Amino acid sequence: MVKETKFYDLLGVAPGCSEAQLKTAYKKGALRYHPDKNADNPEAAEKFKELSAAYECLSDPEKRQLYDQLGEEGLEHGGAGGGMNAEDLFSQFFGGGGGGPFGGMFGGGGMRDPGPKKARTIHHVHKVNLEDIYKGKVSKLALQKSVICGGCDGRGGKEGAVKDCTGCNGSGMKTMMRQMGPMIQRFQTVCPDCNGEGEIVKDKDRCKKCSGKKTVVERKVLHVHVDKGVRDGHKIEFRGEGDQMPGVMPGDVVFEIEQKPHPRFQRKNDDLFYQAEIDLLTALAGGSIHIEHLDDRWMTVNIAPGEVITPDAIKVIPGQGMPSFRHHDHGNLYIKFDVKFPQKDQLQNLDLLEKVLPPRLEQTQPPADAMVEDFELESIEGSEGEKARAHGAAGAGLEDDDDDVPGGAERVQCASQ
Ligand SMILES: [Zn+2]
Ligand SMILES: [Zn+2]
Repeated sequence: MVKETKFYDLLGVAPGCSEAQLKTAYKKGALRYHPDKNADNPEAAEKFKELSAAYECLSDPEKRQLYDQLGEEGLEHGGAGGGMNAEDLFSQFFGGGGGGPFGGMFGGGGMRDPGPKKARTIHHVHKVNLEDIYKGKVSKLALQKSVICGGCDGRGGKEGAVKDCTGCNGSGMKTMMRQMGPMIQRFQTVCPDCNGEGEIVKDKDRCKKCSGKKTVVERKVLHVHVDKGVRDGHKIEFRGEGDQMPGVMPGDVVFEIEQKPHPRFQRKNDDLFYQAEIDLLTALAGGSIHIEHLDDRWMTVNIAPGEVITPDAIKVIPGQGMPSFRHHDHGNLYIKFDVKFPQKDQLQNLDLLEKVLPPRLEQTQPPADAMVEDFELESIEGSEGEKARAHGAAGAGLEDDDDDVPGGAERVQCASQ
């Protein structure tokens, strides 16, 4: 008769069940409640922890005996401390490190659980320039991977020469006992007969090609299709082209596309952005700019006389952006204009501008009886200029007591008249 059944109930087994039954129950529950599978169910994470704690206790014959006699209370007094983290326990079962069983990893040092185990996935970032994404290309990428040794078909030695280790029944781990005073301590250790391999083969029967490792490293070239318009971060998967290992499914190879920065264009989805520098004359009187596109074409972009390109104006050339992924209709090309104004002493015949440009803005005239003083503008030097600009940008403007004049700049203009 046991004192309490909480741990057994959690695992869904009867008290007095066998170790194998415990193990099966834990595996089933742990897979079901693992946090990776229950991202939006916080209760599952709690359940997963409880389950692991219950299994950790009951799988240890000494702790189980204590629990059966005294319940959970007994464990606390009996020194059940140093409990294993639920994830550690889980990965000990299912193999792990990194992604755990749901990440497709293989591991678990000699544990032989049935189920679809898979060798490691090889991840690789493939950097591609924008030209290649525009035109599309096939990259030939070489990788090193483990393949089943052809010399021994993955056995590691001559047929029939590789035997399960009798010392550990092929598990690679051995439970040892140690007498410590009145106590008998049980602990798990790597099987010394087979060094944790779970198998034994005589040196003379060992495969020469792989030295008994069952796999050899091979160079493999994969053709990675960089399709037109592929997006940054897109993953191209080669199922089963990764590492091979005896008794497990071959792993995958995953290439992730990383788009390199481009000196001329910026890409936003299927659109391209280009920054063009033009002079004030071109901005006002028209002219052409030349843009080298991504497929060796040059585009001549005409600005009509009198179109008037203002600084930072953005114009569009429809259909000259990136091809869209799989559909290949094109996004747009947006051109942002950086208008270069002439330098201080580059202007001549300014009076001609009076004929060309629209008339000056109407200014508020001082009343006839006002006292009028003249001022000249001075340049602002160094850090003073920074301060003034920051001030202007914040919208504070200069000290303003005239409600008719909205901004600081306008105000300076007024004062210059
Ligand atoms: Zn071999
Ligand atoms: Zn062994």
